[in-house]
Amino acid sequence: MNDSCCLPSKPILVDLDEHAMQLGGRETNECPTCRQRGKPVPGQTVKAMLAVTLRQARDTEYFFCRTRDCPVVYFSADGTQTFLADEVRERVFQKEPDADDVFVCYCFRHTVGEVHAATPEIRDEILDDINVGINAGQCACDLRNPQGACCLGNVRQVIKRFEHEKELALR
Ligand SMILES: [Zn+2]
Repeated sequence: MNDSCCLPSKPILVDLDEHAMQLGGRETNECPTCRQRGKPVPGQTVKAMLAVTLRQARDTEYFFCRTRDCPVVYFSADGTQTFLADEVRERVFQKEPDADDVFVCYCFRHTVGEVHAATPEIRDEILDDINVGINAGQCACDLRNPQGACCLGNVRQVIKRFEHEKELALR
């Protein structure tokens, strides 16, 4: 369990003018809310993922915030624009890595819960399914996955986490 019950239920809105003045020491890839480094994300991904009007999409570089407890999913390089989880069409794996019904592989529709419930053999089959799909050119990570990149690393990480949890439980 985490202590998310103690977090404010509404994301904290930053006054734009006040925020702009703080940009001095900020790195362009630093999330304006959690201060962790984001990963560059294709503009096409932001457009595909936004649940709000694309009139808000600017011709600028966007980054993806991977911090679990940070409400920001995308932010502009200048840090003045953020898109929060409830402004994105998909639930984001990095924000809810323990939620059974959240996708870890968005292209081939594998959820965290499916991987959790799977035997080691089925987990291998899930990895094979994803690899076969990638090799067949059937994935569209830039349009389907909120991180705008391949999910395989996340799937392996989830499998490792569940294996580790099982080991601990068996001790
Ligand atoms: Zn953040």
